[in-house]
Amino acid sequence: MDHTNELDDFKDGLNRIRRMLKLDIPFEKAVTIEKNQLKIIRELFPKAKEAVRKDLKPEDLASEVSEKVVKEFYYKFADELKIRNNVEKPEEAFNNLLAGRSDTNGTRIIILIIQAIARTYARAHEEIHGVREIRDYKCPICGNESDIIVKWPDGSYRMICPFCGYTWIISRNKLVCPKCGSENPVSLGVFTDKEMKVGLFVCQDCGFKAKIILDPDLVIRIPRILLPLLASAGDKFRSLIHKQDIREV
Ligand SMILES: [Zn+2]
Ligand SMILES: [Zn+2]
Repeated sequence: MDHTNELDDFKDGLNRIRRMLKLDIPFEKAVTIEKNQLKIIRELFPKAKEAVRKDLKPEDLASEVSEKVVKEFYYKFADELKIRNNVEKPEEAFNNLLAGRSDTNGTRIIILIIQAIARTYARAHEEIHGVREIRDYKCPICGNESDIIVKWPDGSYRMICPFCGYTWIISRNKLVCPKCGSENPVSLGVFTDKEMKVGLFVCQDCGFKAKIILDPDLVIRIPRILLPLLASAGDKFRSLIHKQDIREV
């Protein structure tokens, strides 16, 4: 897998989203996080492929490598995020996480490290097994729930996991509800604006809502890990959902 220009692509994508959404994104911080996650992904990729080939789960990979990765990257992350003086020891951060806390600097770094491991596994899985087809809103790789649907350049509709970045096909040609499986066009609505083609999907059969990106060109130009940020533009339709002044497509 070629990782050479990934960080540049990330910066370009982030700038593009910043302009489109007129968002005040902490650019340097986001780039620093991505830079470190990409380093972890690069380093772990061969091991992740081995794990996938052996049919191990992402959590198996995590328990195998997390101690080493934390040792190598925890303080690097802290240094580059300029919070070295404000992090607990990694063991303490782990214990905080196990106790259900995720609000300290240390726990946030551990979560970023675990996310990088999950991203590595997801990539290895896709490289080895291809893209899975499954009508579900839970990530088939890491189990996280997704509320992001993306129209892919090949015409399929996919969901993307906001945690590990894996995408899976929920339908080949028409929009379906990934939660209840409804294919009834009368029950499935998309609220969007003309320019951005980012909106909100609503299933009236089960009440499932998801943000949706309808412009496949955006998928080509924006790195996958940033698609959830782009999709967040669809959130604005939540409050408008019962009003009449939005266009239904
Ligand atoms: Zn996932
Ligand atoms: Zn539904």
